[in-house]
Amino acid sequence: MKVLTGIQPTNLLHIGNLFGALLPAVTLQRDNKLLMMVADYHAITVRQDAMVLRDNILFITAAYLAAGIDPKKTILFQQSRVSAHTELGWIMQTQARMGETARMTQFKDKSGGQEDSASVGLFTYPILQAADILLYQTEGVPVGEDQKQHIEFTRDLAERFNKHFGEVFTIPQPLIRKYGARIKALNEPEKKMSKSAPSAKNYISIMDDAEMIGKKIRSAVTDSMPDISLDEKRLGVYNLLTIYHLITEEPMDEIAARYATKGSKFLKDDLAEALTLYLTPLQAEIKGWLKNKDELQKIIKIGSEAAEELAQKTLVEVKKKIGLL
Ligand code: ATP
Ligand code: MG
Repeated sequence: MKVLTGIQPTNLLHIGNLFGALLPAVTLQRDNKLLMMVADYHAITVRQDAMVLRDNILFITAAYLAAGIDPKKTILFQQSRVSAHTELGWIMQTQARMGETARMTQFKDKSGGQEDSASVGLFTYPILQAADILLYQTEGVPVGEDQKQHIEFTRDLAERFNKHFGEVFTIPQPLIRKYGARIKALNEPEKKMSKSAPSAKNYISIMDDAEMIGKKIRSAVTDSMPDISLDEKRLGVYNLLTIYHLITEEPMDEIAARYATKGSKFLKDDLAEALTLYLTPLQAEIKGWLKNKDELQKIIKIGSEAAEELAQKTLVEVKKKIGLL
């Protein structure tokens, strides 16, 4: 299967990005053709500082490699280096309808009630995302639950295009894991964990140290019930149990049973320790890659050239079908 996914360099990654998208991609890399994108054009839909963005692009590249993305097997590339993305993005804008684009819930969530002052790019970014996916004839897209709507939108656009102009695009499907596809914000468990959240208490960054992890987990919002139980409606507790399960692979009911009467303090202490142990080797690996920025640049340049070649093939087909060539 042909698989593509990407993460925006809007900040350092958090554990939701790791469990929801990056690690599933690493697993899929074994038996599939994977394309791993640094989604920098998406990042600029909200204001970014140029220096920070430059660092974050290299950081994401280092995180991909540290997590196990192998640039010999996988095409690791930077979206803005492949001009076919914006070209097909424009063409797909002419196909997408205002009404269906306006139904995307991420725009409402991310513009936070300030829709008039949000960028037009934030409104149309799902269309560029559709182009990202369709350019490579992608069959599977490992993403978190929050991206499901965008993949369905991509499918609709691709089906409509194929029907109207003739078969060009493969219809992709979202690959969403059962646990870990929607890690909740620690401070607001009714929302998802997000890199661009206003408060760092929202997330565990994959670079947080033991002290920070301890602080954030201990202050994670749970509820007033003294016991621990496995109940999806107890959003905060369920989220902690999910994270615990993801790092230890222990069944969630067993974890819940162990802390049933001990309560959330013990659960939080043990989870903080387990998370620290889990993230420490990954952090060392990332820091190692970041020492060699030239190598990171080289990897991303080679990957982007390989992506460009593939993307151009689809773009030329599309241009022919609609009469531009
Ligand atoms: P931003 O707030 O800037 O949008 P983000 O945390 O939503 O950042 P993205 O770069 O938009 O991260 O998404 C990268 C990938 O991580 C996507 O596949 C997305 O579905 C997944 N993802 C994002 N947040 C979570 C989460 N809380 N749990 C699981 N997966 C997530
Ligand atoms: Mg996001």
